[in-house]
Amino acid sequence: MTAPTIFWFRNDLRLSDNPGFSQAVAEGTVMPIFISEEESAEAFKMGAASRWWLHHSLEKLDRSLQHKLNFYRGNSLEVFKKLLQHSPIKAVYWSRSYEPLAFQQEQAVAQLLEQKNIPFQSFNASLLWEPCEVLKKDGKPYQVFTPFYVEALSRSAAIRKPLPAPTSMKLCRDQSNLDDLNSLALLSKIPWHHKLHSCWKVGEQEAQEQLKIFLQNGLEGYQQHRDFPAFSATSRLSPHLHFGEISPHQVRQTTQQAALKTVKKDADAFLREVAWREFSYYQLFHFPELPWKNFQSKFDPFPWRHNADLLRAWKEGKTGYPIIDAGMRELWQTGTMHNRVRMIVASFLTKNLLIDWRDGAAWFWDTLVDADLASNGLNWQWVAGCGVDAAPYFRIFNPVLQGKKFDAEGEYTRRFLPELSQLPKKFLFTPWEASEAILKEAGIILGKTYPFPIVDLQQSREEALQAYHLL
Ligand SMILES: Cc1cc2nc3c(=O)[nH]c(=O)nc-3n(C[C@H](O)[C@H](O)[C@H](O)COP(=O)(O)OP(=O)(O)OC[C@H]3O[C@@H](n4cnc5c(N)ncnc54)[C@H](O)[C@@H]3O)c2cc1C
Repeated sequence: MTAPTIFWFRNDLRLSDNPGFSQAVAEGTVMPIFISEEESAEAFKMGAASRWWLHHSLEKLDRSLQHKLNFYRGNSLEVFKKLLQHSPIKAVYWSRSYEPLAFQQEQAVAQLLEQKNIPFQSFNASLLWEPCEVLKKDGKPYQVFTPFYVEALSRSAAIRKPLPAPTSMKLCRDQSNLDDLNSLALLSKIPWHHKLHSCWKVGEQEAQEQLKIFLQNGLEGYQQHRDFPAFSATSRLSPHLHFGEISPHQVRQTTQQAALKTVKKDADAFLREVAWREFSYYQLFHFPELPWKNFQSKFDPFPWRHNADLLRAWKEGKTGYPIIDAGMRELWQTGTMHNRVRMIVASFLTKNLLIDWRDGAAWFWDTLVDADLASNGLNWQWVAGCGVDAAPYFRIFNPVLQGKKFDAEGEYTRRFLPELSQLPKKFLFTPWEASEAILKEAGIILGKTYPFPIVDLQQSREEALQAYHLL
């Protein structure tokens, strides 16, 4: 057998529109590998919900690769050193990562391959626009979304067409490697994750199917409905995009084709959201501290409150504010939360509870199936007011008004807070205003079956504004 090309799968867990994989297949035999490299990730070790997703995504990918995917656990540089000792390798290809640690890892591997004189190449498989290419006239990166997007759109002609999956592949295994998917120990021993199976279908084919369903049933009206959590109006593609089960190129092209049938404004609105993902990676690339450091350093001395009880109440969905509690329970039960509600709960944590955005981001990191270093960091900083192109600090969402506006019928809130399901609409977002008789009729004992509010909205809003004014 001629020496194989190694294709190193990372956050590109698909066979179609994977340029590096297609090139490797076109050139001969491929040894597909995946390395689980958690030891060095420290604070950004993959969260439990993401590990669940990754396990099942790898299972599907391995099946598509005729069970030839080679699994390794440990430092990627060390894994490559061993691999190169065992067998002759023709070349190594991979899809570029824009996350700081993963980027360092690929640089280290590239250096090793260079020393060993083994050809290697990295490919862009996950972004429509290379972050280093979209720059202002002065050569600096954009810090505001709209001009970034305008400039990016002007370069759309250069975006490649999605590639089909290779029709035939010669794949081989690393005979010296005994590890399998289970050796990566991605699934928790406590079977909390079973609930996720009923909410998600993981894998490349499933991602394509999800896009199709969305374009058929959700694209029309997307712009108008996307802010209402009770409607199934958004694509639910974020975890598929995060793990690379589908590429943004595929999403873009298929959406544009669907839009030829009269829903252009909705398609534009949807692709603009997809571009927020691009903008997140763009910012992470130019500001690698995005996940943990205030983009605006004037926020560094901000007097965040350290209150474990308030943080726990927020995490558990026991704040006494129904739209917040519904969102936090949605997250816990399903591994996701509607975007509008993510903004409301993040504003509540950082502005009404005055708790550091990094504590909120860490909880999201552990519990979201789409937990993403770039999008999570950018959005938390956006809501907290310390980020790039951020919401101004005085924009404090009122959870009562937000609930009434975006869940007017209360369908979403009742779905995740069954203990309030019998409460009349008038009091659904202010149960403390209901009379004893109404509460009794609805089977609610405040302080027992549902909490009293943990903070006063008006007072906490004023405290936040005062704290922000001190900056
Ligand atoms: C505090 C906070 C934390 C967030 N953390 C994450 C995260 O860890 N991972 C993540 O993927 N998204 C995150 N988001 C963004 C957004 O909430 C999700 O991408 C969206 O809810 C996913 O649902 P969807 O796929 O149905 O979105 P759709 O409305 O169908 O949007 C299509 C795609 O566009 C991208 N997108 C949409 N909105 C945003 C946005 N605001 N920022 C970046 N990309 C966006 C996603 O890839 C999404 O799949 C966060 C938002 C907030 C306010």
